[in-house]
Amino acid sequence: KSGKRGSYCMFERGMDAAMRTRHLVRIELAGAMSRGELELHYQPLFDIASNHITACEALARWRHPERGLIPPNEFIPVAEESGLIIPLGAWVLEKACADAARWPIDAAVAVNLSPLQFRNSSLVDTVAKALAAADLRPDRLQLEITESVLLDDSAGNLATLRALRQLGVRIAMDDFGTGYSSFGYLRSFPFDKIKVDREFVRDLPDSPESLAILRAVVGLGQSLGMTTTVEGVETQDQLSAVRTEGFVEAQGYLLGVPVPNAEMVKILHGHRPV
Ligand code: C2E
Ligand code: CA
Ligand code: CA
Ligand code: CA
Repeated sequence: KSGKRGSYCMFERGMDAAMRTRHLVRIELAGAMSRGELELHYQPLFDIASNHITACEALARWRHPERGLIPPNEFIPVAEESGLIIPLGAWVLEKACADAARWPIDAAVAVNLSPLQFRNSSLVDTVAKALAAADLRPDRLQLEITESVLLDDSAGNLATLRALRQLGVRIAMDDFGTGYSSFGYLRSFPFDKIKVDREFVRDLPDSPESLAILRAVVGLGQSLGMTTTVEGVETQDQLSAVRTEGFVEAQGYLLGVPVPNAEMVKILHGHRPV
């Protein structure tokens, strides 16, 4: 009985701490943006066959003066709840396009979109402006959207996706396989890329179930003309397995961790074909 009570109290204290953090983040985040404490780090995506970098994914970080580098999971959801994701997301798009325009090779830049950002009527305009301001070729921008982005009102979503593609940008379905109707969305929406969640890579090469699912995704990608990408590749064995299955691209700590832009520029320099 006392054990139960104890764990209940701990749970409650845990909630308090989490709520306090959220509260602090909400208050501080707007200021953090104006003080320039937000950064984009970049993680490379590799073409598995040629071993070339095809794209770098922009991943937001908050360099907090006291708490150090804060990961996106601790502030993106708060920004989403408070609406701050609209200016934050616009900043990410502008910065990512500006950075990519100066890279030494013409790798694409992948940017994550949140649900609120996607439903905002100014999104297409924001993307167009970011491309124009950076003078970045539209096909060098890839927008990653998850199923949670598409959950409601498919007619409006379809119109937005079509308008984005009209701009010439590429659309990737992110975290494929983690939602309830991943396959349904592939039928309804014009994606250029399927990015399988790392959940299906984690227990490779020993999971026949994961392998079967990955194999099906490669087949789908080939029939639908979509690039197939895996994330979360951490070991050589995992890389070999997804290569054998026929995936086009891979991303993960084995191949490259997220680094600040200056660091990525050096990596891309060394990567330039000679
Ligand atoms: P995501 O889009 O699925 O991004 C991949 C996450 O997996 C990144 O975490 C990346 O650092 C991590 N990762 C990459 N390779 C490996 C690996 O080999 N093993 C493991 N265990 N993890 C790996 P990160 O940077 O913490 O980002 C977390 C999530 O935050 C992202 O998940 C994305 O949904 C969101 N996010 C990040 N930046 C932005 C942004 O600018 N806007 C929006 N809306 N969301 C963002
Ligand atoms: Ca992503
Ligand atoms: Ca992902
Ligand atoms: Ca993921």
